[in-house]
Amino acid sequence: MTALISNPPAAPVQGCSERTVLRERGQREVFCGLTGIIWLHRKIQDAFFLIVGSRTCAHLMQSAAGVMIFAEPRFGTAIIEERDLAGLADANEELDRVVERLLERRPDIKLLFLVGSCPSEVIKLDLSRAAERLAQAHAPDVRVLNYSGSGIETTFTEGEDACLAALVPDLPQAEADATPSLLVVGALADVVEDQFARLFAQLGIDDVAFLPARKADAMPAVGPDTRFLLAQPFLTQTAQALARRGATHIPAPFPLGAEGTTAWLKAAADLFGIDAQRFETATAAPAARARKALARYREELAGKRVFFFPDSQLEVPLARFLNGELDMAPIEVGTPYLNKKIVGDDLAALPEDALVSEGQDVDRQLDRCHAARPDITVCGLGLANPLEVEGLTTKWSIELVFTPIQGYEQAGDLAELFARPLVRRTRLEV
Ligand code: SF4
Repeated sequence: MTALISNPPAAPVQGCSERTVLRERGQREVFCGLTGIIWLHRKIQDAFFLIVGSRTCAHLMQSAAGVMIFAEPRFGTAIIEERDLAGLADANEELDRVVERLLERRPDIKLLFLVGSCPSEVIKLDLSRAAERLAQAHAPDVRVLNYSGSGIETTFTEGEDACLAALVPDLPQAEADATPSLLVVGALADVVEDQFARLFAQLGIDDVAFLPARKADAMPAVGPDTRFLLAQPFLTQTAQALARRGATHIPAPFPLGAEGTTAWLKAAADLFGIDAQRFETATAAPAARARKALARYREELAGKRVFFFPDSQLEVPLARFLNGELDMAPIEVGTPYLNKKIVGDDLAALPEDALVSEGQDVDRQLDRCHAARPDITVCGLGLANPLEVEGLTTKWSIELVFTPIQGYEQAGDLAELFARPLVRRTRLEV
């Protein structure tokens, strides 16, 4: 469901760095955080995501995730009916019954997330208390946590942030032995995670874990000796929750493309005291493969002008990659939120003439996009079709979250995601 939120407009302001950021607080077009369940339920293989919501929420999930005929899905919706909304039924009792039935039928579930929605928030159903109650009732077989995927105030990637932030207080305490360990934070495709694990091993960083883990009982321990690298830029709440557990963030550009991946790995390698020769030995071959894969696409993409509408929070790192590694020209880089502690390195690498905007006033931004006539526009699903009809080439930002794009071996695939729509448009025009 697309949430349309109206707020008064705001003027450009000077941030703490030199770059001027246009801050807008108008109507915005966003998907809600329930969308994150689509990739999270595949990642945590024994978790179940129970949305406490309406038929609208259920339809969103069914259409976004596709129909699963051969597998029992690991998400579902406990529908809040009108009588719940009218206060005629005890929603807590009904929720307990739904969970009871679900866990009886599905003994494979080890971690249950109660996921809040707009309707559950409207009736002020306290899911954190429900999660505590259900956790006690079903311990030790099943852990029960809760987070909000509501679309009222969130963008779609915030669902993952809220989910991981809910996991953090529940993570085991790491033993204080003054030996730093590395935690990579953010859901990555398993194949990408395996590649990074191999690279860290070759670098000599042995104590590495990933959040989220693939199994509920394999979630990493965390403590003051934990150093964490973010693999996704939309994890502000999770980073704060980890800091509250004493963990320390390693600032780095995001691992997109050859240069981005090298810089991301180097940030960890420097902190762990890995010498330059060992770093070079471990990264030279995959970095060369990535540069070669990118060279194919640079010819097609160099000089092409790209415009980002705010959607996934991947916009700043993506713009850095497209500009720095493919010579594309970002005209506007719109992002829902600009957390300079997280995307500061990528932001600093953007060209001076790229307008960075935070938040949205969709009509004004559409005017700027129409005036600029970019070669490719990265935007949410709601804007893509109207822009295509107007002759603009678009790329769905959600595709960049669903597709494995991080790391050396995926650099060429990431470039292709931008080259393909341009080639398709050229073919249509021939
Ligand atoms: S959580 Fe809100 S925005 Fe998302 S599908 Fe449900 S009603 Fe719509």
